[in-house]
Amino acid sequence: MEVKTSLLDNMIGVGDMVLLEPLTEDSFIENLRNRFDHNEIYTYIGSVVISMNPYRSLPIFTPEKVEEYRNRNFYELSPHIYALADEAYRSLRDQDKDQCILITGESGAGKTEASKLVMSYVAAVCGKGQEVNKVKEQLLQSNPVLEAFGNAKTVRNDNSSRFGKYMDIEFDFKGDPVGGVISNYLLEKSRVVKQPRGERNFHIFYQLLSGASDDTLRKLKLDRDFSKYNYLSLDSANVNGLDDAANFRTVRNAMQIVGFMEDEVQSVLELVAAVLKLGNIEFKPESRNLKEMCELLGIEQSVLERAFSYRTVEAKLEKVSTTLNVSQAYYARDALAKNLYSRLFSWLVTRINESIKAQSKTRHKVMGVLDIYGFEIFEDNSFEQFIINYCNEKLQQIFIELTLREEQEEYIREDIEWTNIEYFNNAVICDLIENNQNGILAMLDEECLRPGTVTDITFLDKLNTVCAEHQHFESRLSKNSKFLTDHSLPHSCFRIQHYAGKVLYRVEGFMDKNNDLLYRDLSQAMYKANHKLIKQLFPEGNPAKVNLKRPPTAGFQFKHSVGTLMRNLQTKNPNYIRCVKPNDKKAPRIFTDSLVRHQVAYLGLMENVRVRRAGYAYRQAYEPCLERYKMLCKQTWPHWKGPTREGVEVLMADLQVSTEEFAYGNSKIFIRNPRTLFSLEEKRRGC
Ligand code: ATP
Ligand code: MG
Repeated sequence: MEVKTSLLDNMIGVGDMVLLEPLTEDSFIENLRNRFDHNEIYTYIGSVVISMNPYRSLPIFTPEKVEEYRNRNFYELSPHIYALADEAYRSLRDQDKDQCILITGESGAGKTEASKLVMSYVAAVCGKGQEVNKVKEQLLQSNPVLEAFGNAKTVRNDNSSRFGKYMDIEFDFKGDPVGGVISNYLLEKSRVVKQPRGERNFHIFYQLLSGASDDTLRKLKLDRDFSKYNYLSLDSANVNGLDDAANFRTVRNAMQIVGFMEDEVQSVLELVAAVLKLGNIEFKPESRNLKEMCELLGIEQSVLERAFSYRTVEAKLEKVSTTLNVSQAYYARDALAKNLYSRLFSWLVTRINESIKAQSKTRHKVMGVLDIYGFEIFEDNSFEQFIINYCNEKLQQIFIELTLREEQEEYIREDIEWTNIEYFNNAVICDLIENNQNGILAMLDEECLRPGTVTDITFLDKLNTVCAEHQHFESRLSKNSKFLTDHSLPHSCFRIQHYAGKVLYRVEGFMDKNNDLLYRDLSQAMYKANHKLIKQLFPEGNPAKVNLKRPPTAGFQFKHSVGTLMRNLQTKNPNYIRCVKPNDKKAPRIFTDSLVRHQVAYLGLMENVRVRRAGYAYRQAYEPCLERYKMLCKQTWPHWKGPTREGVEVLMADLQVSTEEFAYGNSKIFIRNPRTLFSLEEKRRGC
């Protein structure tokens, strides 16, 4: 048998950090840099893939590359995301193990691109045939649709995902894709009405205005000029390298492939237009320009006018109407725009799911791909960052639990003694946020439900009191001091020591965003619209179904869905892609040491390598091991007739490697020190 090029041959730097000698943070970073400079953007830590964003297209994602990696063992070729995808797919197909691909990293690090590479690789290597191809196309084309509505240009990323996404791809027993299910997590809907400086609203608004035909725009009563719309920021409307008009055509085409009917597409675009028009409504005595919006959605103007003028509160026995002042009317307008858009987004996900749903009810093999917004630290952090960062804490937690667990389980499976490794565990931070009694989310909910005068500041006071009390009793919260109280805190802020760094949160808007209430008058007005889709989006506006119960808060819902997600992930075999951003200029070929160093630290990559090395740094199944090194021993060369494990034992004894250096597992040999492996490799080269 020909010995194929190994990971250890012809390598720029070291392809697997586990084999890095000496292992220090400096050597780790230097290895990443060296490889990055030579266009080697992927590096392993055992089975974990580190991916550096190249910020330019590299010729390593061709059909030829796909063929190269297809059906090859993980360590056989140089590190590549395809190797991970292949390993996961084969394990699913051949060993019937459900998989999940967990992609983490900060905003702009390349998570979404990585998720698409994994999906396209799997699509390329799995079965063919008309039906299967249709399923594949639909799954892949769901991406441009969701990106158009859920991504936006931010300071950090021109195509930043402003929602979390988890997609289960389902396969039949042969390994052919049969369908999928997408779950979405909290869209950053505040962006609909206001964008930070240098950022844009969601792509679809610009795409529609740039790419739709004159006829379509006339029907939607829209103007091509972005500057006509209050909800579109002006300073960054055109983004270098983004062709909104061309992307609009891609999105329309994708919607068609996914299975949207022409009238559905039309309705969706009408709602997008309605949001833009909402933004232009002004509440001045002389002009209440609601006409166009009402025509578009088939709403009687007087109904909407009334809904913007009064707020009705229904209690058990009575209805009380209060008049809205001008600023309350603007508030109501923006709340409606945000709600409308985010409900439209969720509807799109549901609609896509209807199309891509597997037809048969038999059990499927599942590969889940998770691409969620990355950790965010801004100068001003609000409820959205709090939620996003909480989600990243949970992901880090699952990474910790599963890497350690998997390591431990492998030792047990192979009958090898296990030694415990100290590892920073962020469970305390998760607890600080999500604990049912005194977690921050629970306190926020409590404050939102408390009668009387409650404000963001009363919430903050409560937070400080409860956390201080805990400090007093030396509770779990304070012992680890993840809730940082110091006197330098600016007014109306609290600070959390996240695993990725300290983040200062400003409480303004927390209560409001968590409550996420829409005045009933508005949902009822929407329900009255003579427009099928919008009616469907506001079911609570149905007067026959008045529900006096409060809807669950945004925080509660998020915590709940993240909990479900984590339980789902726990049942699957995890595969990790840790994305690293090389610079904050969105530029190719620049490697900013301090930036990379920070990410390496908080992603816990060094600890990850140490865990891998502390036990046994390297492991290999008996057969490939014997094949590779049999030339070093007379008894095993050229052929060993007995069982492979015995062959390896004979080989190692003959090479006089200290027995402490090895452990023989049930199917693999475990090598403690990478140097042992290097010396074997040296001997091989010497032969
Ligand atoms: P966010 O959390 O903001 O959604 P992200 O981690 O999903 O960020 P991406 O959108 O995947 O980041 O990547 C940002 C940009 O970096 C891409 O739009 C693309 O220009 C570039 N990029 C990422 N990965 C690659 C790659 N493998 N090859 C070429 N360019 C890439
Ligand atoms: Mg993304």
